[in-house]
Amino acid sequence: MRIGVDFGGHTLTAARVSRKDGCLPAIEESAEALTPQGRTAGDVLDVIAGLVSRLAAGHEIECAGLAVPGPLDAGRRSSPRMSNFPKEWDGLDIPDTLSRVLADMGHSFPVKIENDANCYALGEGAAGAASGLADFVVFTMGTGIGCGIVNGGKLITGSHGLAAEGGHIVVEGSAPCGCGGIGHAETLSAADGTAKRALADGLPGDFRELWAMRGTLAADRVLDITIDGMARAVATICHLLDPEAVIIGGGMSKAPGIVDAIKEASMKYLGLPYREVLDLRVSALGNEAALYGAACI
Ligand SMILES: [Zn+2]
Repeated sequence: MRIGVDFGGHTLTAARVSRKDGCLPAIEESAEALTPQGRTAGDVLDVIAGLVSRLAAGHEIECAGLAVPGPLDAGRRSSPRMSNFPKEWDGLDIPDTLSRVLADMGHSFPVKIENDANCYALGEGAAGAASGLADFVVFTMGTGIGCGIVNGGKLITGSHGLAAEGGHIVVEGSAPCGCGGIGHAETLSAADGTAKRALADGLPGDFRELWAMRGTLAADRVLDITIDGMARAVATICHLLDPEAVIIGGGMSKAPGIVDAIKEASMKYLGLPYREVLDLRVSALGNEAALYGAACI
């Protein structure tokens, strides 16, 4: 049995996940807490340790995994910069620090970390829309655009730990992206970029409200750009990796018909053989994907 933790700016969620032979992993029990205000490493890791300890009590735990909201170093020990957390997190050895707190509580199982979008991909592969696949890509469309790539059954992490940032595929223009680059898919297609264009046109910034207006000229002018940016990113990733499937997850993927719209828009960008084989799917696990994945690191 393993424990997965999804580590967000507002909520900390943990789950005990069983992995019985021949069955897909399943959540046995979960627990959540609000992320402490100030988000300091000491406070956050204490709360996480409390959740993990509660779920571990009376069970044999193999490992606990944390889905971390930031880029990681190549050795998967720390994040060089977690943009929504205080600077004291930068470079902190997270598995080591959490292990020490857990040891004080009487637990000795190992702790591992992985980037949250990569965990989302591992989760979809273990128990969701990509289960049974060895080559797939997951995009999470939300405030930003996360991405995880599994190739030959393994997560691609890159030589510096920074691989699989599909949200930062260059698509067009010179609009600045939060990462410091320009013209990235995230700028056009994430909820924040979409809201910016919608508000400038006097439309609702909330993506669900805006999507409900799909089909009106004004909303489509904004949403077509959102869809087009994702379509370009999907086409690029298919040309590079030829995956078995591309999964669209994250909050925006719940908008009815959005995956079909992205698929249709991507056709003109794809070379002919790729159009025949594109298998674009919607996430099956939603919010739980990263938890499952964290338990599979
Ligand atoms: Zn970027």
